Amino acid sequence: MKLVCLICGTEEKIPLHCGKPMSYIQKGNFRKRDFLKCEICGTELEMPRHCNVPMLYVDEDYMPIYKLSKSEIEELKRIYGE
Ligand SMILES: [Zn+2]
Ligand SMILES: [Zn+2]
Repeated sequence: MKLVCLICGTEEKIPLHCGKPMSYIQKGNFRKRDFLKCEICGTELEMPRHCNVPMLYVDEDYMPIYKLSKSEIEELKRIYGE
């Protein structure tokens, strides 16, 4: 697994906690928010941001299907830019 920035495509390793890669969870009802959770100690962290939007938690073989258009990027920034 890895983290990918939707905007610029930068890839980062899954952060480690207690020596293990953190797992992905979603919280919230109306507006879901992405978190990383440590399976060992239960610590939850907000998804790291890149280009001001939360990164995507994806499989190692994930390939972006298409590049986001300018308006889609603006939309993402509007949703997350707070
Ligand atoms: Zn931990
Ligand atoms: Zn980025």
